[in-house]
Amino acid sequence: MDIRTILSVAVIGFHATAAVYDRCLPGESCFPDDPVIINFGSSLDGKLLLPYMKEYSDVVLSRDMIWTKFPVGIVVAKTTQDVQKSVLFALKYNLLLSVSSSGHDFLGRSTAHGSLQISLANMTDTSINLTSTRNAAGEMTCESGNTWLKVYEEVDKVDRVIVGGSAHTVSMGGYTLGGGHSPMSRTFGLAVDNLLEVEMVDAHGRIVIANNQTTKIQHLDGSVTTSKDTDIFWALRGGGGGTFGIVTKFTYKLHYPATGVAVFACSYPIVRNDKTEIGHLVLQKFTSMLQNLPSEWGGYLIGVGTPNEDFSWGSISLFMNHYGPYNASTRSYMDELKNFHPEWQFYCQYKSENSFLDYEVTTKDPTYFNSYLFNTLMQKDNFTNDWFRFILTTLGTPLPQQGFLSFTGILLGGKTSSTGVHDTAVHPGFRSALMSLSFSVSMTGSNATGLREKAAELSPQLAVFGDGQYPNEANADLTNWQNEFWGSNYHRLLNIKRKWDPNNMFTCRECVGAEDWMTPQSDGSSSHGPNGPSSVLGK
Ligand SMILES: Cc1cc2nc3c(=O)[nH]c(=O)nc-3n(C[C@H](O)[C@H](O)[C@H](O)COP(=O)(O)OP(=O)(O)OC[C@H]3O[C@@H](n4cnc5c(N)ncnc54)[C@H](O)[C@@H]3O)c2cc1C
Repeated sequence: MDIRTILSVAVIGFHATAAVYDRCLPGESCFPDDPVIINFGSSLDGKLLLPYMKEYSDVVLSRDMIWTKFPVGIVVAKTTQDVQKSVLFALKYNLLLSVSSSGHDFLGRSTAHGSLQISLANMTDTSINLTSTRNAAGEMTCESGNTWLKVYEEVDKVDRVIVGGSAHTVSMGGYTLGGGHSPMSRTFGLAVDNLLEVEMVDAHGRIVIANNQTTKIQHLDGSVTTSKDTDIFWALRGGGGGTFGIVTKFTYKLHYPATGVAVFACSYPIVRNDKTEIGHLVLQKFTSMLQNLPSEWGGYLIGVGTPNEDFSWGSISLFMNHYGPYNASTRSYMDELKNFHPEWQFYCQYKSENSFLDYEVTTKDPTYFNSYLFNTLMQKDNFTNDWFRFILTTLGTPLPQQGFLSFTGILLGGKTSSTGVHDTAVHPGFRSALMSLSFSVSMTGSNATGLREKAAELSPQLAVFGDGQYPNEANADLTNWQNEFWGSNYHRLLNIKRKWDPNNMFTCRECVGAEDWMTPQSDGSSSHGPNGPSSVLGK
């Protein structure tokens, strides 16, 4: 079998939707011949993986396995020039592109059937500058394929900290471009608030260096232009991954370390083993304490709705981290919770760690998972009795087939509220939110029937309790995603998208500009395009 046949097999069925994106697919006369593909592969510092290669099957799985799809080839880029060559190759042959850093996306936006996927997972160089003129504690530049654990270890070596994700395996790319919350966001803001500069390959294959002062473009003829138009940097600070270009490097602010990190973990059942329901009282107490929480505290509220070994049911837990000395008065703010009905608690304890890294290494990441999410950004006044009822009823919802419902509330507020609503591209609701609340409907067996529909059904019911949604942890079947993800920042984002990528070189589901290429369907709905339901090999 030659490469062309293999590629055709890999994307069998995809042609039905080809017209949607007007891209050239294997089997069509416009598709590059084998020698052209092989030449392209050998021009790279990295490598081109094709479906018949063993390494292809090693990397093709999405971390959220529900979204695994089959690109016609995967460029495992090693350098910015590899990314540039890949964009130019895709431009020349009108290929569909997809972009991946870690492949963790909960909406499947980092892969697409029939696409040429550019994987940045092997672009992992980093550099630290402690004498930065832009930020007193220094700055760090990371290529997009780095994972947060590696970055945390490197900054710890120079006695600094950085704002990144709680998960060790998530990468810089989609995380940062979507906003990026952190266990330390209440002290230092979102990832986009800490972003100083990016290097990006744009839709024309040009290399762009953008920060909040200037945008420098290295054109294909070698000339360089610099302008004071900083629109693209603004858009990249929350406008979403896979949309405006491929960011190869991110430069972030570093911060000085605190003299210790205290961890506070506290957990209660929802229904005690004597059948008393205490969940709403626990939620009331937790959320009332969030209203005046010192900004040194960050962390997570986690709810689970399954039976416990002691015949109680469900749990509501707080996992918090305090950035500062153990004897600080801000740390003892949580004593009130420690003393709240100790007889109900599974556990409630403090632990003292030396550094953020010591705390961070204790978190565990799933390697692969099968989850549909829905999210809302909870505002100060949203923690009402109706919300408590919704949370507890939802956790108790029987799921079709083999499903498991849980939620994680990431604590916001503190420093995340000190940036203006239009200073970055994230939804304005982020700036007044106390929590980004994400529910997850996960498969526990091999049968996902009905789970996606359940998540889509519950998503609008949760949304009424907040203002906006976090695009990185949201539902894949939203109709009003423009407003839900970006609110009053959407109009500017769409204009920037149309200026920087007029031909929609970069397309993804529920991404800025997707309305320009989504196609109306006969049932009145819209096709979600390359990452969506119209792709034949899986929803
Ligand atoms: C276990 C787990 C823990 C998480 N923890 C956190 C957390 O603590 N905080 C938080 O905010 N979020 C968290 N998330 C959500 C996370 O932000 C998203 O999953 C995000 O999409 C991951 O980005 P990625 O680049 O690693 O993933 P990918 O799937 O590779 O990419 C996601 C999107 O970004 C695009 N993209 C990736 N890299 C680039 C690039 N360099 N340039 C342009 N586009 C790019 C892709 O095309 C895709 O659209 C978590 C997710 C998981 C699964």
